[in-house]
Amino acid sequence: MIRVESYIGGRSLPPTGLHYVDKIDPRTAQKMGEVASSSAEDVTLAIDTAHAAFPAWRDLRPAQRGRVLLEVARAIRQNEARLGALESAETGKPGQEMAGLVDLTAQYFEFYAGLVNVQDGEVINQGPDYHVYTRRDPFGVTGAILPWNAPLHQAARAIAPALATGNTVVAKPSEHTSASLVELARIAVEAGLPAGVFNVVVGKGSVLGPVMANHPLMRKISFTGGLTAGQQLGHIAAQRILPLTLELGGKSANIVFDDADLPAAAHGATRAFTWNSGQWCCAGTRLLVQQSIHDRFVELLLEQVAALKVGPDFDCTSGPITTQAQFKKIQSYFAIARDEGLVPAIGGKVAQGAQLGQGWYIEPTVYTGVRNDMTLAREEIFGPILCVIPFKDEADALRLANDSEFGLGAGIWSRDIGRVHRVAAGLEAGRIVVNEYSGGFVQTPCGGFKQSGYGREQGIEALSHYTQLKSVIIRL
Ligand code: NAD
Repeated sequence: MIRVESYIGGRSLPPTGLHYVDKIDPRTAQKMGEVASSSAEDVTLAIDTAHAAFPAWRDLRPAQRGRVLLEVARAIRQNEARLGALESAETGKPGQEMAGLVDLTAQYFEFYAGLVNVQDGEVINQGPDYHVYTRRDPFGVTGAILPWNAPLHQAARAIAPALATGNTVVAKPSEHTSASLVELARIAVEAGLPAGVFNVVVGKGSVLGPVMANHPLMRKISFTGGLTAGQQLGHIAAQRILPLTLELGGKSANIVFDDADLPAAAHGATRAFTWNSGQWCCAGTRLLVQQSIHDRFVELLLEQVAALKVGPDFDCTSGPITTQAQFKKIQSYFAIARDEGLVPAIGGKVAQGAQLGQGWYIEPTVYTGVRNDMTLAREEIFGPILCVIPFKDEADALRLANDSEFGLGAGIWSRDIGRVHRVAAGLEAGRIVVNEYSGGFVQTPCGGFKQSGYGREQGIEALSHYTQLKSVIIRL
């Protein structure tokens, strides 16, 4: 049984109301521990603590902060097994995924630890009578509100650049997956990060998120999550003129042209909608397939999907759905599909079997003959459900891909380099991946067009979202 509490000022703290909620194991649907249900007072304590720690952290030379973050990265790698086991247990992710995800977590600290040494302002020449320059100042206390689908990775990409640029952090993980982030904060402090610089408050987002956003000492929030909570946060931010980065959902198009390497594309398209059981913001859930190869390609795709291994084991390709609410939500789309006349080509129900017990498992599901105006093609499901939509030519593919309120990721499969560049330029999405369907790199910016959000995480670009630019104009 795990018991998860907030980590504030370098200490574990029970919630002021001493209220806890059950954490349910997605692999078994049985209780696996308790998570603190923190209150507004706990959030206030965390923000005050981060505020008190800010001046000393800000005033370190960037290279000194960088050295501390490199120690944090080293400690993350040393604790890979522990962090991986915690995240795998609370999310249900197959064990084989965890070494890569913990490595990615460490990479964020390494990347921003180095980058902060070359981050600077510029001198603006205004002739001999002036010395004019810009500098980048941290905001102060920054908030990171985080989802449950990849807890350590999502947290590190928001927290590492915030810390590197001299901000202090109050992070709020999802109430469903808080244990690994609390452990990360503890490891960071043990590795030399001053207590109070990185705090974690555990509890329900609909209660704690608005308290964070309304607190006068909270200066910037990075939010990763769904559209509804993002909109609620946006209302508060508008009142307070609080800078936000919003990393929201997607309904990403993955486009297969007739000149693609079809076996590779079938493999990539399968992973695109089943990685993490489809609980992936950039999941390629609208598969656009050129009519001339449609039937042949669907055959290859279904072979790949049929070979997937869903279950609790270390080497499974897909684990369970992380939360019960999400498990139920995904099932509701099977009914919607039926009502709209769709029949699954494979899957279409809860996965069952001796090994799966009462766990929250869903069969990887493919619907063919989907129209882009159907509910399944328009709404983010956040589960392993794929819509296959045929298209005629390049223009048709672009029209269909861009006919969405979301614009997070997209994939292109083609050997025609001219076509690849034309389509990449025309797609309304923040990240385009060609001839594979991957999550990109720590070094590549990530973020959305349209309702998928604004601002960018990852890459050099993130630094400009955790600092504010100041001009200094000196008359000589
Ligand atoms: P969610 O919006 O329910 O929760 C996200 C976080 O917000 C949680 O910590 C939650 O406690 C908190 N929260 C809930 N209500 C809030 C409110 N009113 N104010 C402030 N915070 C609040 O999302 P989720 O179900 O945890 O995650 C799934 C969603 O996240 C999907 O839509 C997915 O696409 C998106 N996501 C986006 C990215 C990206 O990079 N764009 C990455 C991962 C997940």
